Amino acid sequence: MSKIRFATVWLAGCSGCHMSFLDLDEWLLELAEKVDVVYSPVGCDLKTYPENVDVCLVEGAIANQDNLELIHLVRQNTKTVVSFGDCAVTANVPAMRNMLGTADPVLKRAYLELGDNTPQLPEEPGIVPELLDQVLPVHQVIPIDIFMPGCPPDADRIRETLIPILKGELPVMAGREMIKF
Ligand code: SF4
Repeated sequence: MSKIRFATVWLAGCSGCHMSFLDLDEWLLELAEKVDVVYSPVGCDLKTYPENVDVCLVEGAIANQDNLELIHLVRQNTKTVVSFGDCAVTANVPAMRNMLGTADPVLKRAYLELGDNTPQLPEEPGIVPELLDQVLPVHQVIPIDIFMPGCPPDADRIRETLIPILKGELPVMAGREMIKF
């Protein structure tokens, strides 16, 4: 039987959800028997999101043009997309800058007010991905199949969500005792 093509992506998030994924410890060995990791910031160095992915965990919100391009690629090439953690589900911490209205105050603060030596805004295209004026939860950009809240979702919650997904079934929403903040 062919293995499930499994991916994880890291958008605007702190990587804490991926750290929680690594907390699955020895269950990762069981997972490895069932899946091929075809794209992930942990354990796979592929630069382009591949075709025909079965399951993808998406950590982080949509905060810049790179996030936007990648999430559309993810949706086009993935059967089951999981909004993984509160930054993906609600935009969470990255969206705290939304109250400023646009990206300009963020860039000015980071590059001019806090810049040392010769402060200047990034001018050359491509050096810094262009920020969106508003940070968005993933489901406001693409349809999502499954939501896994938590900041981060702990390892038990990740495992209990993945077990049915890997069998092609929908996970039952776990009780709130499994959501840790
Ligand atoms: Fe980090 Fe929490 Fe966002 Fe996950 S949900 S990326 S742990 S801030």
